[in-house]
Amino acid sequence: MNIILLGAPGAGKGTQASRISDTYKLPHISTGDIFRENIKNETPIGLLAKSYIDKGQLVPDEVTCKIVEERIAREDCKNGYMLDGFPRTIAQAEALDKITKIDLVINIDVDFSLLLDRLCGRRVCKDCGESYHISRLNGETNCSRCGGELYQRKDDNPETVQSRLDVYNAQTSPLIEYYTAKGLLFNVGGNTTPEAVFAEVSKKLDSMK
Ligand code: ADP
Ligand code: ZN
Repeated sequence: MNIILLGAPGAGKGTQASRISDTYKLPHISTGDIFRENIKNETPIGLLAKSYIDKGQLVPDEVTCKIVEERIAREDCKNGYMLDGFPRTIAQAEALDKITKIDLVINIDVDFSLLLDRLCGRRVCKDCGESYHISRLNGETNCSRCGGELYQRKDDNPETVQSRLDVYNAQTSPLIEYYTAKGLLFNVGGNTTPEAVFAEVSKKLDSMK
């Protein structure tokens, strides 16, 4: 099964993606993670991506589409995969339609008023990528899953978060209609806990087996 996870920054895509990936044995492809890995390793793609990501803007479609195309062509995606953070524009969705067939688009719907706090309070494990919110950490500085050190993403500051939300509204939210028209959209309310969201998502995925 080929799945797309859609939702605003802070909607909880990454959290759901790691659960879905573990439970349904689907490779988790996060364009954000791929860019961050390239930035860490100072590759040419990383250098280019950094200039956009630091401003809360999108990396150009040509670059992003090429990365995804190469990634889903790999052997481990033969029996399905899950995209997290891609597509983010109509042009990316159209490019994707040319190279693959999508079975389901899960849209995590969260009230905008919650997103700023979620993103600015987010801490991420540098080893496994798990996300936490400072309000639930009680001063803990390491990941409860793997022990890795927690850090704050450079783009999780109020100013950059605001541009990411603006970019989402202008460029990514039209995808909801795009996939609704194709009959592929599954909406799930994301104002609740990660557990409640995952319960709904897995009910849907189990019904498609
Ligand atoms: P979030 O969903 O929390 O905003 P991601 O980790 O998915 O974060 O992405 C971080 C940044 O990486 C984005 O703000 C954007 O600059 C870049 N990026 C990720 N995916 C894409 C994409 N599909 N197209 C263009 N830029 C992207
Ligand atoms: Zn971890």
